[in-house]
Amino acid sequence: MKEMYENLGISEKVYSFGSEIEKTLQQRFKALDEVAEYNQLKVIAAMQKHRVSAECFQTTTGYGYNDLGRDTLEEVYATCFHGEAALVRPQITCGTHALAVALSSNVRPGDEILSPVGKPYDTLEEVIGIRPSKGSLAEYGVSYRQVDLLADGSFDFDGIKNAINERTKLVTIQRSKGYDSRPTLSVERIGELISFIKGIKPDVICMVDNCYGEFVETREPLEVGADMMVGSLIKNLGGGLAPIGGYIVGTKDCIENAAYRLTSPGLGKEVGASLGMMQAFYQGLFMAPTVVNSALKTAIFAANVYEKLGFSVIPNATESRHDIIQAITFHSPEGLIKFCEGIQAAAPVDSYVTPEPWDMPGYDSEVIMAAGAFVQGSSIELSADGPLREPYTAFFQGGLTWYHGKLGILKSLQKLCDSNLVKDF
Ligand SMILES: *Cc1c(COP(=O)(O)O)cnc(C)c1O
Repeated sequence: MKEMYENLGISEKVYSFGSEIEKTLQQRFKALDEVAEYNQLKVIAAMQKHRVSAECFQTTTGYGYNDLGRDTLEEVYATCFHGEAALVRPQITCGTHALAVALSSNVRPGDEILSPVGKPYDTLEEVIGIRPSKGSLAEYGVSYRQVDLLADGSFDFDGIKNAINERTKLVTIQRSKGYDSRPTLSVERIGELISFIKGIKPDVICMVDNCYGEFVETREPLEVGADMMVGSLIKNLGGGLAPIGGYIVGTKDCIENAAYRLTSPGLGKEVGASLGMMQAFYQGLFMAPTVVNSALKTAIFAANVYEKLGFSVIPNATESRHDIIQAITFHSPEGLIKFCEGIQAAAPVDSYVTPEPWDMPGYDSEVIMAAGAFVQGSSIELSADGPLREPYTAFFQGGLTWYHGKLGILKSLQKLCDSNLVKDF
């Protein structure tokens, strides 16, 4: 084994350091394996219930009327995640699009959207109109209110109560911290929040941005009272196989609204050819529990490696996980760059290229990104990025297999060692 790692440029010192840390994680990995096993059974049971067959992988073109594969897949999603209905389509281009469809289809002019968990993910600012943008909900007369989490990360229940009014139509709850520094919400905490909100206004629609959270726990947001959960198929639920797509699962009413918005009033879910995507969507969902398990092992391994070396890591080495994102702070541009170079060098695709910081549109400093992925932009595959400014934090996520994730982290450490950025360990 040591020799195999050596062939890939990992020194004995780095290998041994990683192996010692891995040994301490066996209990946690076992607990993760149980969550994956549970979720695997959940997926298989849903597929069997809806009699998934080889015909479901047939493609349709044109209008896509009576697309058996598409309709069955949506039933599988609805059952698997405890919704009444689902929309799972290649025509949903990404997570932001899925969220934009779910939001905009379920509010009307004069309504208000409330975020009780602070600022939403960057791209949603333009969807809602927090940052002015053409076609934002603000332009359609939908207002927005936000209640931040308290300093200790808890919900500001008084603030939320005061913010809910006769116009509040939809509450948007982001499960993952995304690239923010607040804690990620467990499904249990999401449930507490929803109960509180529905206690004040029972008919308000509670939507959960579920990106990066799927299959991290055994329960999902619809099981604790949410009306919709929304996400991207090039993250967790695509299992690394879906080349595009997004999903919305929820109540019949919410999904009908979303379908009328995604295609057209009157047409809804009846149109939308599946264009040969179905096998990847089914198989991706089937693989997703073990893929998420690998990504979680990779994140926990990284937190333990880098915390032991004295870097600050969020989440820390021991805390429980509710999404697959890991942040590591280097406090130096070289540290961040070398880390990303290591992730890139471990990739199965494009391992020979060196990531360079660049002026990415929409950012106020240079950004470096590492990704050697089968699906472009896929962030369930091992990938890392970070802005070149204090405190020089790398955000990374993914890993289709734990062994690749482990190699990526060891390679990043090797790069840091080779540049004398870490010495004594
Ligand atoms: C990734 C992500 C999104 C947006 O998804 P894209 O596919 O990048 O458009 C929204 N919310 C959260 C929390 C995310 O992690």
